[in-house]
Amino acid sequence: YGDGNQKIDYVFKVVLIGDSAVGKSQILARFARNEFSLDSKATIGVEFQTRTLVIEHKSVKAQIWDTAGQERYRAVTSAYYRGAVGAMLVYDITKRQSFDHIPRWLEELRGHADKNIVIILIGNKSDLEDQRAVPTEDAKEFAQKEGLFFLETSALEATNVETAFTTVLTEIFNIVN
Ligand code: GDP
Ligand code: MG
Repeated sequence: YGDGNQKIDYVFKVVLIGDSAVGKSQILARFARNEFSLDSKATIGVEFQTRTLVIEHKSVKAQIWDTAGQERYRAVTSAYYRGAVGAMLVYDITKRQSFDHIPRWLEELRGHADKNIVIILIGNKSDLEDQRAVPTEDAKEFAQKEGLFFLETSALEATNVETAFTTVLTEIFNIVN
């Protein structure tokens, strides 16, 4: 998980957005450090984390930005979106409201970000199946209509977190190559 001293071929900025408490910081902790915490405090001061991975023999540094508690509607500044080539739009499968807010987040994202930004919709906390409030089909349908990738993840169980990032990063890689 360290960046080492290898030569970097690409740096891709990816932003995490979505309501508070959906698991954005834990998804990032899982991807960047393979860590998870059940009582996660807002990671104040930390703007982004990086992890370098290899895609088609090139080294790609993913620079993943976390909102650090600015999740109120329109509180995320345009600086946050600037230069982003990927976005992960996260809701919690056990909180219907967090899914109902996705169109707002998408609108805000499309208003601020590059029009070619690669977006993945993520339904997090898939380990809490017994508390599910958002059917997979609803999200899949929404993603299809809006042209987004879609996956359900569990930061806790490390399910699909790696796949979510590699999906976005590989798509970005293919666009720039
Ligand atoms: P953020 O506000 O979107 O950054 O959300 P956090 O990453 O701080 O997570 C909010 C709460 O949900 C914390 O208590 C996490 O431990 C918990 N959480 C995050 N991801 C998962 C997950 O995949 N499954 C479960 N069961 N809890 C999670
Ligand atoms: Mg957070």
